[in-house]
This record gives sequence, C-alpha cells and structure tokens, in this order.
Amino acid sequence: MSTATAPTGEKILNFHENVMLAIERAGALTDVPKGLLDQIKVSNVVVKINFPVRTSRGYEVISGWRVQHSHHKLPAKGGIRYSPLGDQEEVEALAALMTFKCAIVDVPFGGAKGAIKIDRRNYTEEELERITRRYTAELIKRNCIGPAIDVPAPDYGTGAKEMAWIADTYAAFHGNDINALGCVTGKPLTQGGIRGRVEATGRGLAFGLTEACRHAEDMAKLGLQPGLAGKSVVVQGFGNVGYHAARYLAEAGCRVIGVIEWDGAIYDPAGIDIVALDEYRKGTRSITGYPHGTWLTDPKAALELECDILVPSALENQITAENAPRIKARIIAEGANGPTTIAAEDILNARGIMVVPDLYLNAGGVTVSYFEWLKNLSHVRFGRMDKRFEATAYDRLLGAIESTTGKRFTAAERLSLAHGADEIDLVNSGLEDTMIGAFQQIRETKLRDPRIKDLRTAAFVGAIQKVATTYLELGVFP
Ligand code: NAD
Repeated sequence: MSTATAPTGEKILNFHENVMLAIERAGALTDVPKGLLDQIKVSNVVVKINFPVRTSRGYEVISGWRVQHSHHKLPAKGGIRYSPLGDQEEVEALAALMTFKCAIVDVPFGGAKGAIKIDRRNYTEEELERITRRYTAELIKRNCIGPAIDVPAPDYGTGAKEMAWIADTYAAFHGNDINALGCVTGKPLTQGGIRGRVEATGRGLAFGLTEACRHAEDMAKLGLQPGLAGKSVVVQGFGNVGYHAARYLAEAGCRVIGVIEWDGAIYDPAGIDIVALDEYRKGTRSITGYPHGTWLTDPKAALELECDILVPSALENQITAENAPRIKARIIAEGANGPTTIAAEDILNARGIMVVPDLYLNAGGVTVSYFEWLKNLSHVRFGRMDKRFEATAYDRLLGAIESTTGKRFTAAERLSLAHGADEIDLVNSGLEDTMIGAFQQIRETKLRDPRIKDLRTAAFVGAIQKVATTYLELGVFP
C-alpha cells in the first residue's frame, strides 16, 4: 500500500490504488450491485514464485508473479513484463486493466498479467532464456498457463523471443496437446505467430486516435481541427508501443516533434524521421547521439513540451498531480498502462485536456493476440482458404464490367482491385474495425450520462457492465 504524501498532505496513490479508484468511481455510476462490484475488483488468483537461476555471477533467486484478475471468461490473458520495478501490486493493477480492456474490445478473455523482477540489461541472452523457461515451468506446475487457462503475451521488456521460449517449454511438457501453441501469443511467425502482432498496439493506437480525433465537436472543445493531419506529437518511450505508435501517427499525417527515452529526449519542431531514428537505435541500442534535432537532457521535463498530442508509452505514473498543471498537450493518448494518475487526470480534465485512456487505446495488442490464439486453435493461416477464390471472383467481376462498359482496366488497376485478402489484410481490418467500434461505444456511453465527464470513466462503466452481465448470466450472483 502507498504511504507517500504530497506537500499538501494528500495521500499519493500507487498504480494499483489508482486502478481500484477508477473502478470504484465508474462502478458507482452503474447499477451493478455492491457485492458483484467487489468481486469484479479483486484478483481471482495471485501466484508468487521464487526460483534459483545460475548466472555468470553465481546462483540468484529470481522473483516472479502471475495474477489472473478475472475468471468470468477463460482463458485469462495478459502480458509478461521484465522490470526491476515489478511487484505484486503492479501486476495486480495491470491484470485488472486487462479484464476491462478485453471487455471494451469484446475479446472473450479474463484479465491476467505476469512479471519477473529483473533488469534484462544485466543478463545474457542465455540467462534470459533460462529464466524464462524456468518461470514457464513454475507456471505449468501450478496449472497457471495453457490455451484454455491463461495465455501470456509480450509486455514491457519482453518480445517475440521470450514468447517462443515459453511456447517451446509448454509444448515440451504437453506433447499430446495439439493446441499447445495457443498457450502464449506474440510468438515469432515461424513459431505460430501472426502477421501484424508486433506492431498491433501502436497501430491500434493510431486507429483509435484517428477515430477519437474525427469528431469536429470534440476537437472544437480542444481548440483543434478534426483529423490527425498536421497535429504535433510527443512520444514517451521508444520501445514496441512508442515506436509503432509514432510511426503510424506519422504515416497518418502527424508531425512527431519529440521522442523521449529514459535518459533524455530528441526534439525537432520540423518533425523527426521515425524510421531513421529506429534504424539509428537498432545500431547503437539507444537514441542518444542521434545526429538530428536537439538533445534534451531532462526526460521528465520533455513531457511538458508544447504539442497537440502527448503519447506516454513507457511506464505507469508519468503524469501526476505534480506535473499535470504544466502539461501543454491538448490530448493525452495513453500507449502505456497507467501513465496518468487519477489525481493528474482530475487536473487535466479541469484544464479541458482530453485523455484517451490506456484500457481502450492500447487494446490493439490484445485484439491481435486474440486473432493469433484463434489461428493457433484453428491450425490455419487466415486467408489461406479464400484468398485465391476472392481474387478470381473480383477478376471475373472486372471482366464483366469491361465487357458491358467497354472500359479497359490497366494491369495495375486489376492487381489492386482483384486482390484476395492476405493474413495481414484481415488482421489490420479486424484491428481497425475493433478500435473504431470500441471508441464509438465509449463515446456513446459518455454522451448518454451527463455524470460521466471523461473517456476513462466511460470506458470503465461500459466494461464493468459487460463483465457484470457475464457474471449474472452465469448465475454466479442469482
Ligand atoms: P518496451 O520494453 O518495448 O519499451 C519501453 C520503452 O520505454 C523502452 O525503450 C525504455 O527504454 C523506455 N523507457 C523506460 N523508462 C522510461 C522513462 N522513464 N522515460 C522514457 N522512456 C522510458 O515496452 P512496450 O511493450 O512498448 O510497453 C510500454 C508500455 O505499453 C507498458 O506500460 C506496457 O504495459 C504497455 N503495453 C504494451 C503492449 C505490447 O503489446 N507490448 C500492449 C499494451 C500495453
């Protein structure tokens, strides 16, 4: 529990307390009975694991957690984070967010999350593999992983490689399970992954923001024009979410003027070439020293740069009551989980700044993870059965148009019009549709009830109602 206090004497809430407060505030605006709300708040399963690992420095005890926040739908689903800051409360907060995130985008999973308390920079690849495989074995022992039970995915500090080790370890213990690959998502393509998963969270963020910025009346309240074109953007965290968000926002016409990392920030009001910055980072493993723009040495102060959209995509508790009064962005687009505290959000709301909340805006990752899980269970690549059939049908249609109108399509026109959908086309189509539909639901919830002042509360209200409906239909609370 948090014991810190602000200079004003107010208690400073930690991440978990912030998430619980958000649930309580939203829950009070629903007609869900108190006992059921209590059940919806608590973690259903909390597992802490301590295990030994041999490293170059000798034996080390490594701590990890897996939290299944809700079993109202199974499997439970949520990423695994490698972070030296990891603790049980953080994992519980992240797992709870997953429950509501899945509900918002109608992904039929309960929420979960895992963490291993390490700074991955202190370990060799071989040591990371040993840690990952041992953590997986500990989850298997406790029946806390499996395609029907609990399906992890990448999060802060993890990626496709760790997911491949998890899948391989699980398969070694479950030789007869034909669906074993569905025990984890975010895997490499050759190990049962799906096209589009790596970039899904950032791409989903760009789809979501496109929809959020489409409504002229909402933008007018912020003093902005509708649409993303020309909007200036600052991104915090140039990892999986931040890089892809920046890239797709730039492709949508935004000017990314700031990229903030843990040790400083690049600022260029003319716009940063995101792909070039990524290439530079791949070479040096850091954005420090990038030869274009201005290097700002204070990453925290860089959050206060003048811009239209600020995209915090690193960690929780970045925008707090302390710096919220100085934030100059008109829109906060939450790529990370929990980057804005509730106290900060109250300040931002009072200042007329729009916060597009994490539990909606970064749900692209779990949406495409859901597609990957479906692919693993169906054992067939999306588009494999119908791509050629569709292409041929469109081609015949073009032929019929040509013979009735006399128009002749060029080879390039034929190629683009008579094209059957590939896996990546279907994944992106499903992702875009999901992000648009979910935002519309959240916006309608907000417009329907004048007591709901912000998008986070609206998102929680809708999600709590969906989770409660499942519980009630299951007869758990007759
Ligand atoms: P990542 O490890 O790929 O990248 C995180 C980046 O943030 C790194 O480049 C790191 O150096 C940087 N960073 C760390 N501390 C910082 C600081 N104080 N200031 C600026 N930059 C800092 O992680 P990720 O997968 O991109 O996850 C980032 C956030 O997005 C987390 O909150 C995670 O829970 C959330 N998220 C991730 C996914 C996903 O699919 N990966 C999905 C939904 C939400």
